[in-house]
Amino acid sequence: MNEVHMNRMSWTQYRDRITHDKPPVFLPVGALEQHGPHLPLGTDALLASDIASGAAALVGGIVAPALSYGYKSQPKCGGGQHFCGTTSVDAATLIGQVRDTVREFVRHGVERLVLVNGHFENQWFMIEGIDLGMRDANAAGAANKLCVMRLEYWDFCTEETLAAIFPQGFPGFALEHAAVIETSMMLYFHPELVRLDSIPNDAPAQFPPYDIYPTRTEWVPASGVLSSALGSTREKGERISQEVIMRVAAAVRAEFGL
Ligand code: ZN
Ligand code: MN
Repeated sequence: MNEVHMNRMSWTQYRDRITHDKPPVFLPVGALEQHGPHLPLGTDALLASDIASGAAALVGGIVAPALSYGYKSQPKCGGGQHFCGTTSVDAATLIGQVRDTVREFVRHGVERLVLVNGHFENQWFMIEGIDLGMRDANAAGAANKLCVMRLEYWDFCTEETLAAIFPQGFPGFALEHAAVIETSMMLYFHPELVRLDSIPNDAPAQFPPYDIYPTRTEWVPASGVLSSALGSTREKGERISQEVIMRVAAAVRAEFGL
């Protein structure tokens, strides 16, 4: 069984895998952000890494350590910056981190990269980082064979699974912050980090169709949870996680001809 985690491999092991197997390299991108009183601050990077590791194991890939600081938390999808512990970076910093890692992977011979996002707010800055990293690699004459896949892992949930998990209707992925999906997935991957007895019972947050700056913190439930996590179970987490892992692996195989 091949080692999946890049940071557990020696440089010579890594070099040999990159040279001979041409494996896809997965880069999880998360955040350090409040997830209510019941989930850890590192939830987004943990779950992105868990999905990446599961998919990498299925396709013979390698997982790099996650970029664990994300773009600034927004009230409508992450609660906002006013929570203690929500420790974020400027857009330019995240763009730079993605740009530099893409360029470095390519410089060492990686031809297939998969960026797995676990934090909504990162999306456009990851896209920019990939674009600039590929431009750098092209300028260095190294990127003729490079192909990058980028994804938000929750987009791999099927309608059937969402309907089964939310019989009352799915509130949408933005309001699913620290709610049933993330809590159930954490119960599956990291049950020791979930404090089930601390789940708040706030009604779903309601936002107007505009933003105000400085943030109206009173729009956001004080717990930081945007819709209730009650009803989260390990079984739901297993169903979502296994479905996402299988479907990410299938997409990687299809796009990279593995
Ligand atoms: Zn999250
Ligand atoms: Mn987040």
